[in-house]
Amino acid sequence: MAHALPRPLPDRPDPRCRRPRRRLARAAQPAAPIGADAVTAQPILSVRNLSVRFRLRGGRHVAAVNDASFDLAAGECLALVGESGCGKSVLASALLGLLPGNAQTAGSAVLDGIDLLAADERTLARTVRGRRVGLVPQSPAAHLTPVRTVRAHLEETVRALTPTPRRERRAAARAAAARAAFPAHRLDAYPHELSGGQAQRAATALALIGDAPLLLADEPTTGLDRDLVARTADELRRHADDGRALLMITHDLVAAERIADRVAVMYAGRIVEISPASRFFAPQGTRHPYAHALLASLPDRDFTPIPGMPPNLGALPAGCAFAPRCPRATAACDALPRPDDGVACHHPLPGPRTGAPAHG
Ligand code: SF4
Repeated sequence: MAHALPRPLPDRPDPRCRRPRRRLARAAQPAAPIGADAVTAQPILSVRNLSVRFRLRGGRHVAAVNDASFDLAAGECLALVGESGCGKSVLASALLGLLPGNAQTAGSAVLDGIDLLAADERTLARTVRGRRVGLVPQSPAAHLTPVRTVRAHLEETVRALTPTPRRERRAAARAAAARAAFPAHRLDAYPHELSGGQAQRAATALALIGDAPLLLADEPTTGLDRDLVARTADELRRHADDGRALLMITHDLVAAERIADRVAVMYAGRIVEISPASRFFAPQGTRHPYAHALLASLPDRDFTPIPGMPPNLGALPAGCAFAPRCPRATAACDALPRPDDGVACHHPLPGPRTGAPAHG
C-alpha cells in the first residue's frame, strides 16, 4: 500500500538546473522535534518536518526522508544512525541544497536565519556551503580532484572562503592542514597517493577552512581501519568542542558511541528515536524496537542480525514501516506512530531502569 504523505510536496528544482523555483509549502502545524528537550542551548540548526521524495518515471515516488525534526546546538554532536539506504545521506544533501532535479522537499531547516530548503542557489553557494556548513564528505579521496595536490585544494579553498591575501595563502593552507592533523610533508601529494586516513584529514581540513558553525560529516569513518575510526571520530569531536555543531551521519555505531552527545535513529526515512547518547548506549537504553535491534546486531553486543530487509522506500506502508521485522508489532501498528517523548512507536521498550544522565 502506498504511503500517504501528510501534505503535498511541491516541486523544488535542483539549483543546478536553470528552471524557475517555487516557494515551498510549510506544514500547517510543525511538529516539535522528538528529543528536543535535550537541547538546552540556542540551536544553530533547527530542522522541522523535513521531507524529501524523488519523482520517478511513470509517476512513481520514493519517499527518502519523512518529517525529520531535530535541533542542533553549538558544541553538540548529534549522530544520525541507521542502516544503509535509510535516508541519512539524502537528508544531508537536502541541508546543502545538493539534491538532484527530481527531488521534492517540504518542511524547513533553519541555520543562522536561513532556511536551507528555501534558499536559492546563489545564497547556498555564497553564504552557506563552506561558510555556514562545512562538509566532510563520504569517500573523501573520490571527492578530491585527482589532478590537484592537497596544497592546491587547500589554497584554492582559502582563497574562496577567506579574505587571506595572496602572499599569505600558502601559510594559511599549512595552518589549515595542521588543524586537521594532516601531515605537512604530504601537502604536495595527489589524492591517489594518500592513505585513507590522510584523505580523511585532507577533507576535514578543507571543511574547516570557512570556520562554518555547522560541520556535516557524512559517513566519515567508512572504509577506515578501526584505529583510524577512533582517531577520525576524536578529531571530529574536537572540532565540536571548539564550538561547532557536528551532525555525524553514520551507520558506525561504535564511532557514534565514542563521540556523540545525542543519537537520532532513522528507519525507512523517518527518525524513530532521539535520545542522549549516554542513555541510548546504556544497557536496555533504547526504546524503539528498531534501535534496540540495531544495537543488538553489534559484534560486541548480542551479534544478532535484524530479521528481514528494510522496506522499499517507493512502497512504504501506511503504518509503521518496521512492523514486518518487529517482534512487538500488533494491529495498532497499522497506524503510523507519532513521536512521543523521543520515540515514535506504539509499544516502546521501557528504557533504562535507572535514569542515566543526559550529556546532550
Ligand atoms: S510501532 Fe509497532 S511495529 Fe513499529 S516499532 Fe513500534 S511496536 Fe514495532
